[in-house]
Amino acid sequence: MDFQLTEEQRLIQGTARRIARERISPRAAEIDETEEYPHDVFEAFREVGLLGLTLPQEYGGSGAGTLALALAVEEVAKYCCSSGLMLLLSALPTHPILFGGSERQKQAWLPGSARGETKGAFCLTEPNAGSDATALESRAVRDGDDYVLNGEKVFISGGTVADFVIVFAKTDRDDGARGISGFIVPTDSAGFSIARTDRKMGVRGVPTANIVFENVRLPRELLLGEEEGHGFNHAMLTLNSLRPVVGARGVGLAEGAMTYALEYARERQAFGKPIAELQAIQFMFADMAIGIEAARLLVYQGAWLVDQGKHQREHAALLSIAKTFATEMAVKVSSDALQVMGAQGYMMDHPLERHYRDARQLMIVEGTSQIQRIVIARALLERELVYP
Ligand SMILES: Cc1cc2nc3c(=O)[nH]c(=O)nc-3n(C[C@H](O)[C@H](O)[C@H](O)COP(=O)(O)OP(=O)(O)OC[C@H]3O[C@@H](n4cnc5c(N)ncnc54)[C@H](O)[C@@H]3O)c2cc1C
Repeated sequence: MDFQLTEEQRLIQGTARRIARERISPRAAEIDETEEYPHDVFEAFREVGLLGLTLPQEYGGSGAGTLALALAVEEVAKYCCSSGLMLLLSALPTHPILFGGSERQKQAWLPGSARGETKGAFCLTEPNAGSDATALESRAVRDGDDYVLNGEKVFISGGTVADFVIVFAKTDRDDGARGISGFIVPTDSAGFSIARTDRKMGVRGVPTANIVFENVRLPRELLLGEEEGHGFNHAMLTLNSLRPVVGARGVGLAEGAMTYALEYARERQAFGKPIAELQAIQFMFADMAIGIEAARLLVYQGAWLVDQGKHQREHAALLSIAKTFATEMAVKVSSDALQVMGAQGYMMDHPLERHYRDARQLMIVEGTSQIQRIVIARALLERELVYP
């Protein structure tokens, strides 16, 4: 077992660390307060080539892989979880094309994303279909050579800045998951509109949009892949492949929160000495480090599995474990780090309250903690996850 990163991975980690310290950290509080998408951060990622890490070189990416993306996200999320999501969003709308698109679609849509010329968003959730994605009601009906798409998608990260969105809709209302197809929808299509954006607790730098599709006419070449009915599978493969990367947002966030609180604890005096000398506080930090290290290993292992092509249903449990453990750890560590700082931790003069608000998003997005546990329990019961 080799725990060493490759030279390429170390380079990407170092580049992301530099961008995070120099260009993201000074902006993080402002990004949260203004709730404005930070185009300058996207530009920084574009300049250093961090937007195509998971895309193969033949489609304009670097082919560095999911572990490389996880490493970059971890660095960035130490200071700004919104910026970590921006990096993840380089993959969330491109992976359905990578896993399910035709060769022509890959050539047409992936290089622009990899180079940072276009942005995408991933539209699965609907007002009446969240965890139970098969209940979605959006409908794409054949009309000659075209499809006509109607429906509403909610909580879409980056929807307001996207050039294209991947939309999952029913092409056959009666066939459950197999009735769902994916579509590539340019956001300048007639009938595409943003109904509103959400006011939310955290991760405020990436707007969350409610999108309406009203008689959007799509040529057949925008159906993802060659045939109808594979959309649900493409959506699940995409989500599986990125579970470790959501986990990496949690690992980075926790590292940032703990490090900040530790520096504070070294200085803050109580009862005649720095609080860092109190064993109760030391044990809190030790527990934070235990959580971070365990989560980091799970996340790296999960990302490595995805890089081995193991993100299908039978491998899903380890990816779900990584996501669940790392995101719940991030909530606990950011809460404990805030506690260490007392009243100061609660104030917006410090980043801890923001880290805590941001962490809460991670247990909900891309499959809640409860849905991950369903996946893990199923794998145990179906003997996919065994300890012989
Ligand atoms: C900030 C943010 C950004 C998002 N970005 C996107 C995006 O870009 N694209 C997108 O498509 N979606 C996005 N989402 C939506 C997200 O994926 C959903 O919120 C998530 O899948 C859960 O769906 P829901 O909120 O409808 O909860 P529901 O499905 O209504 O669930 C409510 C509660 O019930 C629990 N629950 C549901 N079913 C079960 C079950 N069978 N067993 C046990 N418990 C269960 C859930 O865990 C949850 O606690 C985003 C959400 C947020 C908050």
